[in-house]
Amino acid sequence: MRNTRYWNPCTRVGSLLALTGVLAYGVLVEGWRFNKPQVINNTSSDVNATYLHVVPQEEQRIVPQEEQGRIAAPETLVDEVVQAADQRARTRAIDTIVLHTTEGSFAGALNHLTSPDAPEVSAHYLISEEGRIVQLVHPSRTAFHVRGWNDRAIGIEITGHAHQRIAAHQIDATAQLVVSLLSQYNLPLASIRAHSELDPTRRRDPGQQNMDAILEQVRRYQR
Ligand SMILES: [Zn+2]
Repeated sequence: MRNTRYWNPCTRVGSLLALTGVLAYGVLVEGWRFNKPQVINNTSSDVNATYLHVVPQEEQRIVPQEEQGRIAAPETLVDEVVQAADQRARTRAIDTIVLHTTEGSFAGALNHLTSPDAPEVSAHYLISEEGRIVQLVHPSRTAFHVRGWNDRAIGIEITGHAHQRIAAHQIDATAQLVVSLLSQYNLPLASIRAHSELDPTRRRDPGQQNMDAILEQVRRYQR
């Protein structure tokens, strides 16, 4: 039969074990809860601020599915190919991407940019109201859309007007195409120019608000 004196240390050990257990539970369960990666929905305005401070900076940036992985080649983004009449072999390297708005309907622009009757009027891409991308001239060839810059430029015509904000899906389609072209031709962000910058006395397109929105989306894709 054991002397109670021998039980006292055991009781203390038992108490210690119980206390350790409670502490371990607290650390593990509470610790797990606070360290658990939080799914932050950037469309929600009521993100629980108490969780944000434990989420590493990198995890707070939301990367949409389509932004992840490699940049798509320009060809894979094209919905339709129509050949413009006015095109020729390039005489110099590409260093500029020029953004335009059509200042008229998609059908009117498609007709104008592909017609053999309109001398030296074309573009590489035409983006519809729905954000569909039509390739009119392969970017390796010269199209005619900006005075004095054609042989070094890729021209993107977006259906819309310089004084109106183009649709979000047009901004997105344009940005995806631009990011793809920047990657394909190894061009910096500064190579994206508004038609109005290159021909300021005659052109207003695609408008500052459209330019800003597209550049913002391009930067988002490039991050
Ligand atoms: Zn233009």
